[in-house]
Amino acid sequence: MKYASEFRDPLAAKVLLAEIARVADAIGATKAKPVHIMEICGGHTHAIFRYGLDKLVHEGVEFIHGPGCPVCVLPMSRVDECVQLAELPGVIFTTFGDAMRVPGRRKSLLQAKAAGCDIRMVYSPLDALELARRNPGREVVFFGLGFETTTPSTALSIQQAAREGLANFSVFCNHITVPEPIRALLGDPDMLLDGFIGPGHVSMVIGTHPYDFIAQEFGKPIVVAGFEPLDLLQSVLMVLRQIAEGRAEVENQYARVVPEHGNPVSLAAIADVYERRPSFEWRGLGEIDASGLKIRAKYAAWDAEEKFAIGYGAGPRVVDEPEGCACGAVMTGRIKPTACPQFGKGCTPEMPLGALMVSSEGACAAYWQYGGARAAAE
Ligand code: SF4
Repeated sequence: MKYASEFRDPLAAKVLLAEIARVADAIGATKAKPVHIMEICGGHTHAIFRYGLDKLVHEGVEFIHGPGCPVCVLPMSRVDECVQLAELPGVIFTTFGDAMRVPGRRKSLLQAKAAGCDIRMVYSPLDALELARRNPGREVVFFGLGFETTTPSTALSIQQAAREGLANFSVFCNHITVPEPIRALLGDPDMLLDGFIGPGHVSMVIGTHPYDFIAQEFGKPIVVAGFEPLDLLQSVLMVLRQIAEGRAEVENQYARVVPEHGNPVSLAAIADVYERRPSFEWRGLGEIDASGLKIRAKYAAWDAEEKFAIGYGAGPRVVDEPEGCACGAVMTGRIKPTACPQFGKGCTPEMPLGALMVSSEGACAAYWQYGGARAAAE
């Protein structure tokens, strides 16, 4: 790949769209009886809408938007705990910007900041480390959030803090993993999924083998995909071809970035710093076994849960949603964002009710941004 434009070539897109239509017709996919393909990653959801791929592909292909947006699946109780940490005297709470406006039961981090808490947006956990070095009299807490894409950088920051003996730095670990919710979705008899578009960035870290169970146990095709329009069209075609040929395999369309066995340096850092929690609660999906990561005991001095006795280990948790919010149904593909009664009314990017409208990877934000709702509102 030399230029992104090579992956946005309209003529190549037309060829792929024609082939998608031919294969979709061959397997009998129609608007009334479509092939359901779930794009797991919120980045893919936004690319699909940004380039209008949902309207360009054959009408017998329906995209189902999966739970692969870490901010969207963050339960309100976790936001509450972030606010609790930020309200502690002497704490500088650091977070990626996406999490700032996610509603908690009491308030969002943005509202907590407006109320006087010292909450700072950072681009990397290394920024939080630097803040800790420059503020030795303060406690700097980093909100570790995200899938396997961001898990290694948080791990590296903890290892670095341990090397430096930086005692005023800690991580509130909310890292989660992709394969487990997919297993939970596939185990739900109400979910009618025919295939998957696998996440590109996550797979850069973990490789393609963690998805083997999707093909081997559940008999569904999955294609790990890039984020340009031609990547996605080619991946849709690859899924359809597997269905047409009666195959269920893990294929890698994004081989220019995703190594089959992942990134060994990242995987080693993950293994060193984290262990699996017995379960973790997901907004809209409930508790999912072994889907969350906890900082290992040897790094307890840099674990905000241990240091401030807050979070998962501190007692039973509540998984609730704002009244009228349909985020769970959207995230499991049961309804489209526009079918949520709050969409564009009680819930907009300016006044969000659910996290899917806040996050840059949220399905509701994609429908708002690219589906005409924003323009209609303006
Ligand atoms: S419109 Fe708002 S409340 Fe409804 S599903 Fe989307 S984010 Fe949730």
